[in-house]
Amino acid sequence: MATDRLDTDRVDAAPAEGTEDLEAFRMRARAWLADNMPPLQETLTPHQLMLQDEMGTRARELQRILFDGGFAGLCFPKEYGGQGLTRAHQAAFTHESAPYEMPLVLNVPTFSILAPTLLDFGTEEQKRAHIPKIISGEEMWVQFLSEPSGGSDLASLVTRATRDGDVFILNGSKIWSSGAFRADYALCLARTEWHVPKHRGLTCFIVKIHQPGIEVQQIKMVNGSSEFCQEFFDDVAIPAENVVGEVNDGWTVATRLLYHERDAVGGGSPYTSGVFGGRGEHGSGRTDLIDLARATGRTGDSHVRQLVAESRANDLVGAQLISRVTKGISTGKFPGPAGSLHRLYAATNAERHQDIALELAGAGAGAWAEGDLAGEKGIEFLSRQSGSLGGGSNEMQRNIISERILGMPREYAADKDKPFDEVRHNASPSRPR
Ligand SMILES: Cc1cc2nc3c(=O)[nH]c(=O)nc-3n(C[C@H](O)[C@H](O)[C@H](O)COP(=O)(O)OP(=O)(O)OC[C@H]3O[C@@H](n4cnc5c(N)ncnc54)[C@H](O)[C@@H]3O)c2cc1C
Repeated sequence: MATDRLDTDRVDAAPAEGTEDLEAFRMRARAWLADNMPPLQETLTPHQLMLQDEMGTRARELQRILFDGGFAGLCFPKEYGGQGLTRAHQAAFTHESAPYEMPLVLNVPTFSILAPTLLDFGTEEQKRAHIPKIISGEEMWVQFLSEPSGGSDLASLVTRATRDGDVFILNGSKIWSSGAFRADYALCLARTEWHVPKHRGLTCFIVKIHQPGIEVQQIKMVNGSSEFCQEFFDDVAIPAENVVGEVNDGWTVATRLLYHERDAVGGGSPYTSGVFGGRGEHGSGRTDLIDLARATGRTGDSHVRQLVAESRANDLVGAQLISRVTKGISTGKFPGPAGSLHRLYAATNAERHQDIALELAGAGAGAWAEGDLAGEKGIEFLSRQSGSLGGGSNEMQRNIISERILGMPREYAADKDKPFDEVRHNASPSRPR
């Protein structure tokens, strides 16, 4: 595997002969966007957009417009409905599209995590069946990885899939699946073999979400969002042809999925630029602090100016880090786990950004009138920690950096070589009745 080029590595290869010149593409995109995409409604912040239940339907409509115009799936291979362009074309398009309403909810995880994993490990039939529908906005995907018993030690999961002729029977529960209620398919990691060490008994499946035996419950969060879901599986029959990769080698698929996830959450995915699509200059998407300083009448305050400048500098460093690390990985100078570097930086920077926003907002973040920017920052602060957990916690990124990049000794694991059924672990939770 280490020496094989994966399908998604093509994105970083030299442009194929006949690839449209970057500046010509930029001009064509600029004109097309102006004629076809609705202008961004400035009153809707990314946070408000996240809360809109109907955003899934809207995103599918917008994606269809992009698809019909030949601007969808820019970095996806042509044979699966994409445009076969380079990372630079995607970055140019993202920059040009900043003033328009875009289907951002499809960025993560559908485009930047699940589709690339499917490209890397899916069979030809699986890719032909799903990638074109993903690119056209017909299919939305999510990931079923974390379980109520824990997410960091992913290989210890206890949702089981038992072979029964041509199908696997799935039982157990997944949790924290972002947007599962509005999605169509999931990549689900389940245990298929219990008598081997934990990493060697897992299999990755394509699971149709809305079918008999699967119950999806939305979880109401403190910020008012119901994005997160928990799913309960009750004897769900999954066709054996839905296995992605090899049976009992799901860890290889999961490792690659997590690579794409770190890239996506860290802002380095070639399939999008940044979680919210890289709004704003340099893909940082951060003009909100200046707006906030203006709204609170504090643009002349030297301390406020320093905080805004600090945040700006942090964003510029982040953009440079992404560029350096992604280039390093694509040229083989850095190992794949180096994605943890920009993933960790993005999470730490996002927390600092939230802290600065709260300081600028002051008391307005605690009590506000409808539509008040300071109040919006107060609500956003409630999910300050999300970036340091989604895609693997900061502590897990630090473990990866120390062990797999710096070559420090691996963390002790008592269960490493033990068959999973001899290791003490939680039972699979059942649906509350
Ligand atoms: C915004 C967001 C979106 C998400 N989307 C999805 C999704 O779509 N699908 C999905 O399956 N999951 C999703 N998750 C879940 C996410 O993957 C888990 O929250 C994450 O892996 C941590 O797992 P946990 O919450 O069970 O914490 P635990 O694993 O229980 O960890 C608890 C704490 O212990 C620390 N810890 C654990 N092990 C170690 C160790 N070995 N060394 C040092 N510290 C350690 C962790 O860092 C953490 O601080 C999402 C989470 C967030 C916040």
